[in-house]
Order: sequence, then structure tokens, then C-alpha cells
Amino acid sequence: MKIVKFGGSSLADATCFQKVKNIIESDPSRKIVVVSAIGKRKKDDNKITDLLYLCHAHLQYGVSTENILSMIEERYRCIKDDLHLSIDLHHEFEIIRQNMMKENIDYLVSRGEYLCAKMMSEYLGYQFIDAKDVILFDYNGKINIEKTKEAFHKFMPLHTGIVVPGFYGSINHQRIKIMARGGSDITGSILADLFDATVYENWSDVSGILAADPKIVHEPKRIESITYNELRELSYMGANVLHDEAVFPVREKNIPINIRNTFEPDNPGTMILNDCSELDKKHPPHTITGIAGKKDFTSITIYKKGISNESGIALKAFQILEKYKISIENMPCGIDSFSLIVSSSKIADCLYEMLSDIKEILQPDSIRISDSLSLIAVVGRGMVKNTGISGKIFGELGAHQINIQTISQGADELNIIVGVHNDDFEKTIQVIYEKFIRRIS
Ligand code: ASP
Repeated sequence: MKIVKFGGSSLADATCFQKVKNIIESDPSRKIVVVSAIGKRKKDDNKITDLLYLCHAHLQYGVSTENILSMIEERYRCIKDDLHLSIDLHHEFEIIRQNMMKENIDYLVSRGEYLCAKMMSEYLGYQFIDAKDVILFDYNGKINIEKTKEAFHKFMPLHTGIVVPGFYGSINHQRIKIMARGGSDITGSILADLFDATVYENWSDVSGILAADPKIVHEPKRIESITYNELRELSYMGANVLHDEAVFPVREKNIPINIRNTFEPDNPGTMILNDCSELDKKHPPHTITGIAGKKDFTSITIYKKGISNESGIALKAFQILEKYKISIENMPCGIDSFSLIVSSSKIADCLYEMLSDIKEILQPDSIRISDSLSLIAVVGRGMVKNTGISGKIFGELGAHQINIQTISQGADELNIIVGVHNDDFEKTIQVIYEKFIRRIS
């Protein structure tokens, strides 16, 4: 059994619905379908979920919602008409109009997925199961997997395929509760776990995960397989592929996630696995799987003679950052100094108070602040126990006159993070990509 989830761009109009149907019908194991709300048809179009949020904002300020609701209704109506569906949209929107005044914001915002799943289920001839009846949250906002399992049991055994709207569930089958933005990925992952899926296919408009950002590198390669750990490193550093939380439900069972493209269904996409060792035996991985990075960090370097012999000083520094709710991205150390690398935007409002705390509590000899720092993560399971990789990377950057400001490597040798000036951000990614990925593929 495969779980298939389609994102908004795969559901933007009737042609997309047809493509989705072809994909589902081409493989009899694609029986459990999760859908997002209708997405953008082109770059400057609107996503239905965004319009629903806007609608709620209008409600709050007492501005008429009619224009927006009609716009939303029109998007669904076009698909209904083109596909000759019988769903009574007029009735559905009447219910929304009545309920949106008395229900919470989550109810209104979830209607994008709800309607999309209703239409898709009719189009496929699959059963519609409302997420409200099966995806169950506790009062603390966490999904209760046991209750969700029980709720699904009531629908077992499945006689046909099913379509479940992503992104929301309910508390006690009553109050709708939505997940974080992009949450349909999480719904798909929960179902993959519940149904012990052989694979969780996540269909969008990209043919898998790319080894670097195509805005920076010309036509980067597709990554064929990647471990969850590698993916987390790349996503944390800005590679935007899946909702972060979508990995956890499938990870324990080692259910593969396959990133696929609705508009290029023959492309095998990227396989994400807990452990790629079986695949690696057949196709040894590249040393570097991917490169990602983020700009705009600030490094606060604290100098104090004998700092490495002073116990508890790092703890005190962490406590100061905790006070301002700032997380540390990296912490390179010297003998008489250490640096705290933090996001520039997060410290913008509290930098001077924080520095005065550092002066008072840590009593440093001096402090140096330097901003416009970029962090670039070079990630690859092929680097583990492979000697000389960091030397080659640094050598290559040196040969291109890129000054490395900080260096760190995780203990599991899965990533090397280099800090460079923002001005060198793109060039650093390009140089590493061309030498270590393009040239050896
Ligand atoms: N429609 C929701 C959003 O735009 C959830 C999703 O697409 O996964 O965030």
C-alpha cells in the first residue's frame, strides 16, 4: 500500500486533477490519497489557503468577505464544471458562510483541503473520509496517534480507495484544528505510519530534491537518495522540501518518502530513507549529497585570557542567550576566545542589552561583533570516514580567493559548515558544487 499526497500546485485546475487521476490509476497500490487545498496556477496566482486566511482577516475587521469567498468558489466551480462533477458547491459554500461566523479560524482555513478532497474523491470514485473524523488532536495541540488509529479502524476494511484532506484534524471530533502551514505533508506521513505503507509518495511540482538551489547553481543535479539525517541538515540550512515534522512519523519504521513531480511522473524523483546502505551497495553515493546555506548571521566573539580553563563560562553565555530566546547556530572556539554565531534578525532588537549582560556576567577582555556572515552546509553520508575531503573543500575555496571565517564539522562527519562573508555566499556554493558534484557526476 502506498500513501500518495498531492500538494496545492498539483491540484491547481482541472488539468492537474486529470494528471493526478492518471498517476493514481497507473498503480493499483495508490489507494490512500491525501490532498492539499487548490494551489497557484501560475506565479502571480493565489493559493486558496492564503485567500481563506485573508477572508478571516476581513471577518475580524468587519469588512465584507463576499468578494474573496466568490473568488474561492469560482476556483472550485471551474474544476467542477470542467470535470463534470456533481458536488453541490452552492450548498457547501452556504454552510461555510453560516459556520464561519461562529466557528474558529481553523474551521475556515481548513475548508480549502476539505472541498478539494471532496471533489477529488468524487472524481476518482474513492471514498471521502473527513480528517475531522480521523486525525485526532489532544488538548495540548499534539496529534494523538492511538485515538487516530482507533478512529481509522471504524472505516476498515477499505473497500475502495480513500481521499483524506490534509492539514487539519479535530479535537474530540468537534473542533477543527489545523497544523502548521504545509501541514498536509504531516497528514500523509501519519497515514503512512498508520497503514504501514511501503512508501510515502509526496507529489509536488519538483522532480525530487536538488543538490543545490537552482537560483544559485545552473541546473543542479537531482539527488537520487538521501537519508533523513542528511535531509534534516539540508532543510535546516534552507533547502525547502518537506515540512520538517513530516519526517518523524515515518522515520521509526524506515518507510521511504519518495519526492515526485506530478508534471513529470516518469521521473523517479528522490528517495528519502532512514538508512540508504542497501541502495549505496548498488550505487555508491557521491561524497557530497547536497549543499545549502543561509545568509545574515552575526558572530559575537568573546576574548578573555585563560578562558579555556575557566569552568562554567559557556554555560553562563548560554544562559544569557536563553534569556533573550536566541538559539546558537554555531560556536567556534579558540584558546582565549569563543564565538557565538546567531541569526542577525533574531538579535537585532536585543543586541545591546545582551552585550551589556555579557560584559557584566562574563567579564571579557574584549568583545568583537561581526555581521554579514553566511553559513553554508556541505552535507554527505559519503564524507564519513573519507579522508581529505575538508582539505579539498578548503583548498578549492582558497584557490577561488574565498576567505573562510568559520569552520565546523558535526561529530558524525555528515556535514561541514563553513562561514563566509555574505558577498561570497553564492560563489562558495557554486565553487563547491562545480568541483565536488558536477565534475564527478
Ligand atoms: N494548504 C495548506 C497551506 O497552504 C497546507 C498544505 O498545503 O500542506 O499551508
